[in-house]
Amino acid sequence: PSPAPAPVTLVTVEPEPEPEPERGRPLISYVLPVYNERDGITAFHTELAAALDSRPELDFELVYVNDGSTDGSLELLKGLAERDGRVRVVDFARNFGHQLAITAGLDLARGDAVIVMDTDLQDPPKVSLELVDAWREGAEIVHARRRSRQDSAFKRATAHLYYRVLRSSTDVDIPLDTGDFRLLDRRVADELRRYRERSRFVRGIVASMGYRQTEVAFDRDERFAGETKYPLRKMARLAIDGVTSFSTAPLKMITRLGFVVLALSLLGILYALAMKFFRPEITVSGWTMLMCVVLFLGGTQMLSLGVIGAYIGRIYSEAQGRPLYLVREVVGGDGDH
Ligand code: UDP
Ligand code: MG
Repeated sequence: PSPAPAPVTLVTVEPEPEPEPERGRPLISYVLPVYNERDGITAFHTELAAALDSRPELDFELVYVNDGSTDGSLELLKGLAERDGRVRVVDFARNFGHQLAITAGLDLARGDAVIVMDTDLQDPPKVSLELVDAWREGAEIVHARRRSRQDSAFKRATAHLYYRVLRSSTDVDIPLDTGDFRLLDRRVADELRRYRERSRFVRGIVASMGYRQTEVAFDRDERFAGETKYPLRKMARLAIDGVTSFSTAPLKMITRLGFVVLALSLLGILYALAMKFFRPEITVSGWTMLMCVVLFLGGTQMLSLGVIGAYIGRIYSEAQGRPLYLVREVVGGDGDH
């Protein structure tokens, strides 16, 4: 017989006092990649600081990442850090590229929300505050979408086409016409830090994460000073990274091609054999054998490449080491995960 159940005592647990009003004064971090922006960086900082001053209810932190500038941008940034206590400067040992500069900034940012924006005044500082408003209304990721842009016709056209091709070749719902100008909630920024793949396409990773995403439209200004740090070569590399990091479609195409080639080569073999038996008088000696071998080898080789491709695709996605899933919250228990 089981022992009598212990008497139940009801204890009223005093609700714990809220540990610091969580959203008392939210801290907003800015991640600001800088590569040879000597002529514009001071103007950028002045405009950003003016925008921030219009929001005394928020705290701000500015993480400038100097991506191996060679034009003295670093000295200017150090000057900003001396004059403005909100500024932190990360100095890269060399130029690692825009996407890695953003990544380093995200690693260091401590805010309740993190905004990534360019430092050439193409992403207007005022708009970043609209991102904050959307965040305070509950969004966890806020993309700034370019309603219009002032770049060269070539850049506009290629970007326009690219975002549409990218969208159709991957499963990820990458928002159209958005660069890296966006706001991430703390939770999203933390999860994003678990993605350590090398050739990264940050905007694609963020889009693939889920969470509550919204957009704020803005008109993209012209570069304030200097010229684009994305020459065609870098743009092409970023574009390829975007497609290859979210799709193994090219590999899958090999498999499909393999099936087609093998089917055609079987037809070819049948044709060669038929010629040999029914029209021996016009068949050159040795031709049948040659055709059979060439076609058979071609077909099986193509198919084998597809099989190898399928495994490479798997190795690739394992090597990316992305988190398997992302959790927004766990309800019940102590609520942590
Ligand atoms: N940038 C960077 N490292 C690079 C190239 C660019 O940190 O290797 C920064 C640059 O200073 C700017 C942002 O990334 O703040 C976007 O670059 P850019 O404005 O040249 O690109 P575009 O707007 O022309 O696409
Ligand atoms: Mg720019």
